[in-house]
Amino acid sequence: MRQLSRHFIDYSLARAQSYHSKLRTMLAAASNVKSINEARQANMEEKEAKEDNQPQLLGEARTAMTEVLDMKASTPGRLTLDERVSMLNQDQNRVFENVKAHFLHQKCHEAKQCLCNFAPLRLFVSGVGGTGKSFLIEAIKALVNSLWSSEGLLCGIAAPTGLAAFNVGGITIHRLFQLPVEHATKATSYWPLPKTSQKVMRATLSEVRLFIIDEISMVSSINLAFVHMRLEELFGSSEWFGSRNMLFVGDLLQLPPVHGNPVFEKVATKSILSQLGCAAAINIWRDCVTYDELTINERQKSDPQFSSMLDCVRRGCPTKETVSVLKQRVIQVSVSDKFSELKQSGKAPVCLFPKRKACDDLNAQMLRKNASEVHDIYCTDEIDETAGNRKMTKKVIEHLDKLNADCNMTAGLEAKLSLAVCARVMLRRNIDTKAGLVNGAIGTVLSIAAQHVTVQFDNVPAPCKIDKPMQLPSTSVRVCH
Ligand SMILES: [Zn+2]
Repeated sequence: MRQLSRHFIDYSLARAQSYHSKLRTMLAAASNVKSINEARQANMEEKEAKEDNQPQLLGEARTAMTEVLDMKASTPGRLTLDERVSMLNQDQNRVFENVKAHFLHQKCHEAKQCLCNFAPLRLFVSGVGGTGKSFLIEAIKALVNSLWSSEGLLCGIAAPTGLAAFNVGGITIHRLFQLPVEHATKATSYWPLPKTSQKVMRATLSEVRLFIIDEISMVSSINLAFVHMRLEELFGSSEWFGSRNMLFVGDLLQLPPVHGNPVFEKVATKSILSQLGCAAAINIWRDCVTYDELTINERQKSDPQFSSMLDCVRRGCPTKETVSVLKQRVIQVSVSDKFSELKQSGKAPVCLFPKRKACDDLNAQMLRKNASEVHDIYCTDEIDETAGNRKMTKKVIEHLDKLNADCNMTAGLEAKLSLAVCARVMLRRNIDTKAGLVNGAIGTVLSIAAQHVTVQFDNVPAPCKIDKPMQLPSTSVRVCH
């Protein structure tokens, strides 16, 4: 019996011990899990805080919003609203009255005088060049400013390129809506803005009663979806474009977007998941945008034949007469000879080419014909080694070498730029939208000094000094330690 109980005690002790050690292990594990969770939580908070304080993004949003506010300051006040309205033609007037009726109805809703099911304005006004789209935009801008009074901005105007934006007193669509920038090789996905950037944008854009996007033909359907998502994110509405009034202006038969489908095509199924992160098929254009058209051509009233030729080429169905007239105008000499001839007579044209190669060839020929010395300016790439692993440098240099061969990979920036005094040049970056230093601005090189190049742009009164990169013998990489 004693033996048995001894056995039992031993057994119980062994069990208790085993139980105790199991318990200790479990407690240790639980505390371990807890600390892992806490660490993960802290890490996530830190990551969120970091994202929220991304100085670059926040800085970007801040400067963009300063530019947005500049738009208000630059509103031309030469003509009164009544004067503008009296100058509208029949087409422009129809669109104007339509927009005005919509805004007056909206005011009734703001005053709670009407409770009907009323949707925001989402209108596309189409028209070829010369039908007075810009004049109509100015009149609608003046209308919005007369209907609502605010310290803030009431009309947000954007266009896909710097030059187009400059022409309507706006900023680029990417800047206004802080859209992800796409690259030639890779599709971009939508990302919500960090909270601080959202706050900055909301503060500036909350008073905006109407967003106007000009040259809509150059906006891709995915970017239009991004605009919708950004406004939804900022203004928290389940309606299209965050329930904001939208006016799209342009000519859909003009230049299509560089990357992606035009707005009227639906976003490709493949892009929906990868770029928009949602599963529903999207055709914003078809689902929500109404249409009106300007057909009275103010610019070409003086030359109806030229006007009708342009119109049938634009539609892609030229008549026999148009083809034969165009054939008579085919240049029999080389493009560079014709260009020189026109330049000498003071009518230097802008030449358009379907391929970059042909454009580069003409540029090289014209530089050789130019009497002044040709200067080659090489790009300098900088690698910041302080931020990362030095072992990466070799790989980065190899990658940079590949990029130098193709300027499509560097957003159009050349590895070597050949310039000469008197050469005509085009700016390829938006430097200062307000001052007219925009992508597409054309000018003439006045002088080339050791440190900078001076250019007189056609649309800017004073000559501009543009700094040259640090001079190195050829395309080089500077490593910063
Ligand atoms: Zn109503």
